[in-house]
Amino acid sequence: MVVIMKPGHSKQELEHAIQEMERGGVNVMISKGAETTILGAEGNAQGIDIEKMESLPGVERVMRVSEPYKKANRKYHPDDSVVEIAPGATVGGKKLLVVAGPCSVESEEQITAIAKEVQQTGAQALRGGAFKPRTSPYSFQGMGYTGLDLLEKARAATGLPVVTELMSTDDIGYFAEHVDVIQVGARNMQNFDLLKRLGKVNKPILLKRGLSATIEEWLMSAEYILAGGNPNVILCERGIRTFETFTRNTLDLSAVLAVKRQSHLPVVVDPSHASGQAWMVERMSLAAIAAGADGLIIEVHNDPVHALCDGQQSITPAQFRELMAKVGAVAQCVGREL
Ligand code: PEP
Ligand code: MN
Repeated sequence: MVVIMKPGHSKQELEHAIQEMERGGVNVMISKGAETTILGAEGNAQGIDIEKMESLPGVERVMRVSEPYKKANRKYHPDDSVVEIAPGATVGGKKLLVVAGPCSVESEEQITAIAKEVQQTGAQALRGGAFKPRTSPYSFQGMGYTGLDLLEKARAATGLPVVTELMSTDDIGYFAEHVDVIQVGARNMQNFDLLKRLGKVNKPILLKRGLSATIEEWLMSAEYILAGGNPNVILCERGIRTFETFTRNTLDLSAVLAVKRQSHLPVVVDPSHASGQAWMVERMSLAAIAAGADGLIIEVHNDPVHALCDGQQSITPAQFRELMAKVGAVAQCVGREL
């Protein structure tokens, strides 16, 4: 349930409304927007008398919320959430966030060279996996902690904040200290232990959509992190599994619209994993921005043919430069900026 206060309500009216809700047995979440104050009921709102609530002075309207996600729900928080990933770098506002970098960190030369290239082109963050979730145990598993060290070197060389995937709850403390944005991969979207623990971390979380997750399941995973007390969740649409095999996954752009309608959380699109093919990445990126995504996360490699992971879907720094120029033009058309 949400209680919408009248514009210009008094402090006493607000306190009275909160007390009335608490008497009904719920915790109250207060969301103060530019124009309205909204009180969200956390927990079972059965004990609240809606008619009485609506008759209180200062209360405009009371709405039942049928969706199981509350903190992620736009009804509880009508304004878009803006998540800061580093001083001056945000996602969710007018300015788009572009994260670029290789699938995996492979060496100091590789990650630093790519970081410099993408930074010069206007990326605001560097991606690079150090702990890789691979389908085969015989494939390259990532450089682990050494990879995280190299990401920190690349950050020192460029000033770019780093985004990298966490796989194990054992590493949460280390990531919280050394990484700017913690990525939860598609395969871990419903690792509820991991999500609960990330609710206690003071770092932005990039939550990728699971391979076969519905929009509601995805938002419920975000809810775990929010419910734990971490409001800094960025959603990432990275394609879902369908019957189609031409592409690695099927980019569900309608999910961007759905999520932005249902939730206040920022949504970025990963056209690299969504398509699995480098030649599709530019057009998919433009489509994502046109559809209203708040940003992009793109795999860029200086030598895709020899990449240790996901080379076929990685674009070169030169291709990334062309893409960014076009993204800038589309952004302008839809009232956003790079
Ligand atoms: C990745 O970003 O390299 C990755 C493994 O992504 P996903 O979890 O979306 O497959
Ligand atoms: Mn990858």
